[in-house]
Formats: sequence, C-alpha cells, structure tokens
Amino acid sequence: MNKCSKCGNHQVIIHRKQSGQYLCNDCFIEDIQKKVFKTIRKEKLIEKGDKILVALSGGKDSVTVLDILYDYYERNIIDLVAVTIDEGIDGYRNDGVEIAKRFAKDLGIEHKVVSFKDSYKITLDEIMSNPKHRGSCTYCGVFRRDIINKTAREIGATKIVTGHNLDDEVQAILMNYLEGNINNLQSLGAMTKSKSPLFTPKIKPLREIPEKEIGLYVIAKNLEVHFAGCPYASESFRGEISQIMKNLSINHPTIMYSTLKGFDKIKIAINKEYKREYNHNNCIKCGEPSSNELCRVCTFLEELKQ
Ligand code: SF4
Ligand code: ZN
Repeated sequence: MNKCSKCGNHQVIIHRKQSGQYLCNDCFIEDIQKKVFKTIRKEKLIEKGDKILVALSGGKDSVTVLDILYDYYERNIIDLVAVTIDEGIDGYRNDGVEIAKRFAKDLGIEHKVVSFKDSYKITLDEIMSNPKHRGSCTYCGVFRRDIINKTAREIGATKIVTGHNLDDEVQAILMNYLEGNINNLQSLGAMTKSKSPLFTPKIKPLREIPEKEIGLYVIAKNLEVHFAGCPYASESFRGEISQIMKNLSINHPTIMYSTLKGFDKIKIAINKEYKREYNHNNCIKCGEPSSNELCRVCTFLEELKQ
C-alpha cells in the first residue's frame, strides 16, 4: 500500500502524477499552504499593514484563498475584509451568499454583501429577460469588477485578492495568445497594477495551484463551499480551452505549470516591447476611468434602459 511521501502515514488522499508524490490529509493541507505562502513571498504580493479585500463568492477558490490568508490576519500582518457580490441570479446565488456570510462570521472578519440591484437597480435575471442582452457573462464580469473596485476604494483597501487558480490563469493566457490580445496578456500575472490610481492592485495567491487540488483542499479541511454551477454558464471559448488543457494534462501532467512559467518569462519581453495603452479619460457620466466617453458600465446601463 502507498504511504505519504512526507510522513509515512498510510491514509493517502492524493497521488501527484507530476511529481510522483503521495500525500496524506494533513501533509496535503500543509503542502498547499506552503505553496501559496511561497507564491506570496516570491511575487511580493503582501506587505505588512496591507488592508486586503477578498472577493468571496462562497465557491471553493475564494473560500480557500481566504482560509489561507487568515493566517496573516491572525498574526496581525494584514487586515481582511470579505466582499460578496449578489448578481441577482434566482435559485443560485443565495446559497453562496449564505456560505460566505457564515465563513466570514466564523473567522470574525468584516463582511459586506453588495448587490447588482442596489448598485445598478437591476438584477442579472432582469437583464437576461431583455431580448437584446449581450450575454450574461459580459454584464456580470463588467459589473462585478466595477463593484469590487469601488468597494476597495470605499474601505481603503490596498490590495484586492481573487481566487484565480492555475487552470484559470492558463486558460486566460491561451485565450489571449490565440486572440493575439497583447493588452490583456499584459494584465495577466500574480499582481496586476492599473495605471489609474483609482484602481487597487489585484493579487492572485492561488495562481500556481491546480483547480483539482483546491477542490481537494476544501474537502481535506472540511470547509463549507458552494459547488453548484451558475445556470447561465454556457459552452464558451474558455470552456473549449479548458477541455483541451485537461486532455493534454492526461499524458503531460506538468503542462499547465510549464505554460504558466513560460508565460511569466515571455511577459517580461512583451512588457518591454509594448507600452500599455492607457487613456487618462474619465466616464462623462460616472467619473470612473474609461477609454471612451462612457465607461462600459454606463454604456450597458444606457442600452438596457432603451
Ligand atoms: Fe456571472 Fe454566471 Fe457568467 Fe459566472 S457564469 S460570469 S456567475 S453569469
Ligand atoms: Zn460610467
């Protein structure tokens, strides 16, 4: 029978094909935490005194990142505020919001729930009942980013943490390579700083952890998470890329890591070669940074009114 490669325990919960390693429950938890701490140190993601906004959906990624960052909070290195966005998706979002509330309460950290309805006077369900809608995820992404940026400013956060994992990051890299989208490629990485002082830097401490291992982490730590999928999630380009990478990983178990590492090297050259386009304009309606007269939020809201 296989034994944990670290402590010799026979209760193995994972065999990592990429390294040949076997791990028991406790050694696996410790290993994931150490890896995340290492990413944080290597990429200098956190500084003493940071006030960190965690975008907490209640899903496995955001719950895991908050669980791991809590260690810094307990040691008084950082302050943490969790923010959950309620898009207004009936029968789906409520469970996640409740899980997020319970988790933040258990940890004793400040928690805010901000809804599309309060912010824009419309829910995602209402948007989707408009026959001229542009697709759920288009609004969802733009509105969520807007809420997170504004809330970060309101509470004086110095960093925004998201739960992006290795699979998410590799999908984004490949999508933007294939579309030749240099601007978007430049905004990928462990820390993204916007040129506008109105936007708080975003960090991704789980960027080197595969999605499967985050799923196992929440089980190993017995964390309550919202596993249900969004009813609007559809077969997208991202979904196709995800499937390709999963298939490739069967015979090439390190391919996601090598794609990420390769990109991190290439990014240095991209940044030298291409100066990021940045327009110092502000939306004439809401005043947020925008490259056009109206920002995307205001453009969408105007369209939906018609
Ligand atoms: Fe929003 Fe659902 Fe699309 Fe995710 S899948 S971006 S929650 S609409
Ligand atoms: Zn605007």
